[in-house]
Amino acid sequence: MTKTATTCAYCGVGCGVIADTGENAAARHVAISGDKVHPANHGRLCVKGTMLGDTVGLEGRLTAPFIGNRRANWDEATRFVAKTFADTIAEHGPDSVAFYVSGQLLTEDYYVANKLMKGFIGSGNIDTNSRLCMASAVAAHNRAFGEDFVPVTYDDLDEADLIVLVGSNTAWCHPVVWQRIEKARKDRGTKIVVIDPRRTETAAEADLHVAIAHDGDIPLFRALLAEMKGRGEVDEGFVAQHCNVPDGFWHGLNGALGEDLPEAFAALADMVAAHPRMVTVFSQGANQSVRGTDKGNAIINLHLAMGRIGKAGAGPFSMTGQPNAMGGREVGGLASTLTCHLGFSEDEVSAVAEFWQAPATCSTPGLKAVDMFRAVHDGRIKAIWIMATNPAVSMPDAGFVREALEKCDFVVVSDCMADTDTARLAHVRLPALGWGEKDGTVTNSERMVSRQRAFLPAAGEARADWKIIADVAAAMGFGDAFGWQSVASVFREYTAMTLLSKQRRLQLDLTDKAQLRDDEYDAMEPFRWGGADPLLETGFSFPDRRARLIDVAPLAAVETDPAFPLRLNTGRYRDQWHTMTRTGLSARLVRHRSEPLVEIHPADAESFGITDGGLARISTPRGSTVLRAKVTDGQARGTIFSPMHWTDLLSSGGRSNRLTAPHVDPVSGQPGFKDCGAAIEAVTPD
Ligand code: SF4
Repeated sequence: MTKTATTCAYCGVGCGVIADTGENAAARHVAISGDKVHPANHGRLCVKGTMLGDTVGLEGRLTAPFIGNRRANWDEATRFVAKTFADTIAEHGPDSVAFYVSGQLLTEDYYVANKLMKGFIGSGNIDTNSRLCMASAVAAHNRAFGEDFVPVTYDDLDEADLIVLVGSNTAWCHPVVWQRIEKARKDRGTKIVVIDPRRTETAAEADLHVAIAHDGDIPLFRALLAEMKGRGEVDEGFVAQHCNVPDGFWHGLNGALGEDLPEAFAALADMVAAHPRMVTVFSQGANQSVRGTDKGNAIINLHLAMGRIGKAGAGPFSMTGQPNAMGGREVGGLASTLTCHLGFSEDEVSAVAEFWQAPATCSTPGLKAVDMFRAVHDGRIKAIWIMATNPAVSMPDAGFVREALEKCDFVVVSDCMADTDTARLAHVRLPALGWGEKDGTVTNSERMVSRQRAFLPAAGEARADWKIIADVAAAMGFGDAFGWQSVASVFREYTAMTLLSKQRRLQLDLTDKAQLRDDEYDAMEPFRWGGADPLLETGFSFPDRRARLIDVAPLAAVETDPAFPLRLNTGRYRDQWHTMTRTGLSARLVRHRSEPLVEIHPADAESFGITDGGLARISTPRGSTVLRAKVTDGQARGTIFSPMHWTDLLSSGGRSNRLTAPHVDPVSGQPGFKDCGAAIEAVTPD
């Protein structure tokens, strides 16, 4: 058999892919097509997915363990990592070590890493780069629903009459979801609204672009709710039956309509009032804010108040960025949860400790990403293991993160690539299997669990992440609890554990998988958990089964130093993924945008002497970088935009996260990547 059904390596849409290796898999010539029977994409792929075959070669791969620059064997490297972690813990305690993991890991990898850190090392210090993309949505769900549950599926997009996209350049960042939205528009006349300060490629295609001020989402959604209340469009019966409303909530909206609202507000309000089948998709533009959780709740408030949730074609929908951000949430990859959506109450900790037979199970949350690297910087964390991610480029204030890793006593990086900005700072590098070599499951934005399957031989000595972690755990003396013989046995243990979950919906759909034989696991078809449990019949997850409307207040600006008069916003390009370690290998993908640009409004360009195609230096309190300018009226006045992909290894400029601020949302810990003060000046080439 030369064709393998698997799941795309990139975004949270989670498209099914057919990989055809021909007769000789070792040649690594892979033809890629969309899986017509996968429920997420029905055969569609975007350009990144289509070009996956360009990224599976051996170029740039880490193919053996290294201690420093010396090639080591697995046994030596494993024992060295285990001993250094064990010695550090013995001398400084469990909170002196940390794991920083990734939404690129498979659910089974996540499960094993989480079990080792939280159960056996006994610290909550495991956090994931998903903290950077959707932690605010998780916190908003918890506050509104009593659990982290996404109440919408892609099928709802097909059935909606109005789709409102907030802070989401869907056409570029979740292209196959965009294709589904366009199909709904064609088939049933679905209206599309984009709420975004920029006229993105998505906004340009919408029926209505609501160009809000930078961070104007909360005032807009408060005003919409006040307007709907005034028009009698709030579903009072639904609210009485399903929601708790804080005292003074409606009174608190007085004045919301008097705020500085965008021109398109009246048109937006008319569209919202006219279309009960309304889905609001929100993504990084909402989440990556120092008030990201409030933004999520402002959106959810509108849906709850209008009874537009738990019904076909209606609900608030947080799209995840990464292929397995959702799987990481389920197994506890965030420092703020224990595992399987459990928290840190005495009962929850003791249930987990008993299940794992791990008396050391931690009883308090660990450090979230930004705080974790601060603790590395100031020496509280002395050993860190970074898995499948590149924080030296992707974290805000990335120069600080580099400095922290340079100072750290012991840095382990397990990755499929040999030379990333972060790997250069590692004391030990461990080669991990890449996409096409590894085996396990991922969960997409709509909670669809799909298999990623291996169809290529391992690159050199690379091993599965779960196996690397389990071997280190065994070398630390925890072998009995980490002795799985296959990835299927890790999956069975994880799904058995979901019986402990606070998530009844997760329990229902995953514990029945706990008895799967290996061959059944291999053949497992995509399935979505939570689908068979109607939200409005079974209720929300607070003890009273009611949802909560949450008071949110407008946002105060951060970094208002007049020396940095512009607001810097960052984001993605269509054809690149994260820090380009893989998409940078495809010449076709690089052609779309061969360099990072800074986008600026013509009036600002004129006042700062910037010309279209000329060079400009952007500065923030953390540093500066030089980029080519694109002058466009799609960029709001007073703001500039640059992409986040480029790294020190790829270019002498464009490293936008050396400039971004490490301010975080106080509820979710998610950084506000999309807003910091910045200055710009023209640069004349020598
Ligand atoms: Fe892959 Fe996302 Fe593109 Fe689908 S939309 S092919 S999951 S990158």
